[in-house]
Amino acid sequence: MAVRPITIIGHKALHQPTKKVRDVTDEIRTLVDDMFDTMEAAEGVGLAANQVGVPLRCSWVGREDGTFFEIINPEILEKSGPVTLDEGCLSVPDQFEKTPRFHKVKVKYQDRTGAWHELEAEGRLAHVLQHEIGHLDGQVFVELLSNLKRGLIREKMVKLQKTLKRREAERE
Ligand code: ZN
Repeated sequence: MAVRPITIIGHKALHQPTKKVRDVTDEIRTLVDDMFDTMEAAEGVGLAANQVGVPLRCSWVGREDGTFFEIINPEILEKSGPVTLDEGCLSVPDQFEKTPRFHKVKVKYQDRTGAWHELEAEGRLAHVLQHEIGHLDGQVFVELLSNLKRGLIREKMVKLQKTLKRREAERE
């Protein structure tokens, strides 16, 4: 198990739909375990595979009680009750915005054994599911905001990318 670097908005892995996992192999389970360590180290409430640069359809989702479960090949079957919720993302550091979401969702997904599940969720769990499945579809939450807000966040993130690159160069 290992902590992997988290991709920042602008990284191409975050902006392309991920691929379906054909078989839930040991390799996938290792990826999922690494993703858990990465999420825990970053104190996240969820993490999608493309946030560690792997374009596969699997993610972690945090429940309200502080426990987590993995979702592989998830799909949203139904959503209802539009709401606006405060949202942030490990790939968009320190930016929090009110984002349009749905109060309730019904999803299906596979677990690490390959077994399929259906789940009806509401409130925070429904929110995390929408955020993570959005990632797997190549969507970062800022894409759901107004052009103005998205533009402001983009400017900040371009600056952040430059700072990170500079730091990397200084280390070498
Ligand atoms: Zn996120």
